Amino acid sequence: MSGTETAPTRVAIVTGASRGIGKAIALRLAREGRHVVLVARSAAPLNDLKSQIEASGGKASALAVDIGDGKAWAAAIEQVADEHKRLDILVNNAGITRDNLVLRMSDEEWADVINVNLTSAFVGIRAAARPMMRGKFGRIVNIASTSGLVGNAGQANYAAAKSALLGLSKTIARELGGKGITCNVVAPGYIETDMTANLPQEIKDKLLGMLAVKRLGIADDIAAAVSYVTSDEAAYLTGQTICVDGGMTMC
Ligand code: NAP
Repeated sequence: MSGTETAPTRVAIVTGASRGIGKAIALRLAREGRHVVLVARSAAPLNDLKSQIEASGGKASALAVDIGDGKAWAAAIEQVADEHKRLDILVNNAGITRDNLVLRMSDEEWADVINVNLTSAFVGIRAAARPMMRGKFGRIVNIASTSGLVGNAGQANYAAAKSALLGLSKTIARELGGKGITCNVVAPGYIETDMTANLPQEIKDKLLGMLAVKRLGIADDIAAAVSYVTSDEAAYLTGQTICVDGGMTMC
């Protein structure tokens, strides 16, 4: 780059950006100068967040899409890459839970969680890989969970999907590492969001007892890790799982 050229604005897609962890990641990446494409199913909170980012001088666009619909999700990524002529960062964050003990878990509860939490990451990576390869740069982050590392009763579907993200990420890291593309996992522990709002106080107290850092996590704790992993300087970090869990698992 010559002395007069400015660095290009990196384009980042963040799924599940309408609330919780995804919203914190989107705000953080926007603050750091990325153009953030906000993805979730419901348009209204995405439009609100886009306005919030723009009001503080950042760049964002809102894209309402169900990532569980593979065709629509892949088409949305292609549309972003065409529009911006680049795609630099993909954060596969959106996730759902359909908890049940394995004896009671329905095929639908299993399939929905695998589809939204795992298959969507594969579909997203496959669609994002080509534009990233064209740009000779890419940062892919899959948001897993400590449930995927150590298991969690009542979450056979969720833990299986999250655990599979580790194998997926390591494989993508190996396949695309030579093209300037990294792929890592950030695995949150217990983070206070809508997803965990209904946990009984008794369980929250038990969790607290398992933590080295004596507080529950907040979405910004995860955003800070994603910020580093998606930065230009994290070029030598790939195929890794970073557990941001207050020292709960240390695995
Ligand atoms: P959350 O508050 O429930 O938010 C989930 C987000 O995903 C929302 O923006 C939701 O928006 C979006 N989403 C859900 N299904 C979607 C679909 N089919 N298509 C597009 N967007 C969809 O969850 P969170 O707590 O922030 O969790 C974010 C990620 O961290 C998830 O992958 C979760 O598994 C993981 N995690 C969370 C914790 C925790 O303690 N909170 C711990 C470990 C891992 P719409 O409903 O509008 O689509």
